[in-house]
Amino acid sequence: MAVSVVALNLQRLPPAPDTLWLIGPSVALAISCTLALAYNRSRVFFSCITLAFCLWLHGQKMPPDFKELIIIGLVPLSFLLICFFRERGVFTTQGLIRLLVITMAIALTIYLIERRWILPGLLTDPLGDPVSLVLQYSPFHQVASLLLAISIVGCIILLGFDHTPITQGLTTALGGLVLGYILAVEHAWEIFLMASSLYMAANIIRDSYNMAYRDELTGLPHRRALSELFDSLGSTYSLAMLDVDHFKKFNDAHGHDIGDQVLQMVASRIGKVGGGGQAFRYGGEEFSVVFARMNKEDAFYHLDEVRKSIENYEMVIRKEPRQNEADESTGKKQRKKGSFRRASEKVSVTISIGVADRSASGQTPFDVLKAADKALYVAKKAGRNKVSMSS
Ligand code: GH3
Ligand code: MG
Ligand code: MG
Repeated sequence: MAVSVVALNLQRLPPAPDTLWLIGPSVALAISCTLALAYNRSRVFFSCITLAFCLWLHGQKMPPDFKELIIIGLVPLSFLLICFFRERGVFTTQGLIRLLVITMAIALTIYLIERRWILPGLLTDPLGDPVSLVLQYSPFHQVASLLLAISIVGCIILLGFDHTPITQGLTTALGGLVLGYILAVEHAWEIFLMASSLYMAANIIRDSYNMAYRDELTGLPHRRALSELFDSLGSTYSLAMLDVDHFKKFNDAHGHDIGDQVLQMVASRIGKVGGGGQAFRYGGEEFSVVFARMNKEDAFYHLDEVRKSIENYEMVIRKEPRQNEADESTGKKQRKKGSFRRASEKVSVTISIGVADRSASGQTPFDVLKAADKALYVAKKAGRNKVSMSS
């Protein structure tokens, strides 16, 4: 959006030096390419190569229909394919094979364009009016539009279930490329190409940040992010420790995979805690919530809401007959229900919570967290599925 506003209002801005348009896109691409190699992100690297090819192609003199077919037809399609690749790194056998295929496809296209073999004579010759009228509806244009539509729909579908920064970066870059080509504004192409490349670079950094600070299973930030947040807390705050009750037994009864799904559900509910609380996965089946600028009495209310929402949530699981050892142990019960067919079962868990706030000056967030942990122990002792406040 912001890039479109800049592109459309470029005339009103102070003029940029010509060198920016000349070397800007290449520099931005080089930055993105270097980061992709440094972080071994093959999908961004392949996309950078494709964008570099577009950059070269855009400067070539050739019939616009044909250029359009490549830039808004074939390139978006290859972006879409790259998006569907699983990340296998650049310097691996799979990565190098992919690189070889992409480079060969690009090299072949460049060769054919240079030799003008794939340009029909009609298109390269000056055209009379009736002919250009027909060419407005040329197969090149139609095919380009069709491929673009397929790519856009594909990207939207992909974004629906893949929220990773790299996929967001690639699909946004693709949108930028197409917009830059279509917008009939001077230098729109250069602006969007620079923005697309830098956006991909930024998303490599965002992805690496997520890998370092976010827990893969639940998507919540983990302990390292929590201790960094501690440095920015003021004098009023409260901290909570949350722990799933009898989770070992739950795992034993239903299996580790179902346990993981339950942890995801629990994490998503804790993540939605009110009062501006920030949730973290502390480790295993333990979570923490930080309420900056809130005392423990107020935090208690929001935490109890989370506790209730988890208690009331029933997850339906499908069980294969004789799925795990737990089925064996509860075999009689299962068999009575005729569990030779796939049976579905509702499961639920509860959590216990301890909350503490900074009660004395000189207390560090680590001290407060310890107090919250003690309060959690009290909640467990008191029968679980409870919120307990530090004394
Ligand atoms: P309590 O009510 O006292 O907290 O009992 P508990 O069984 O929950 O406590 P305990 O700490 O003994 O067990 C924690 C269990 O959590 C053990 C481990 O198998 C399970 N767990 C930890 N991390 C994961 C995970 O990522 N996935 C799954 N499925 N289980 C996990
Ligand atoms: Mg525990
Ligand atoms: Mg537990």
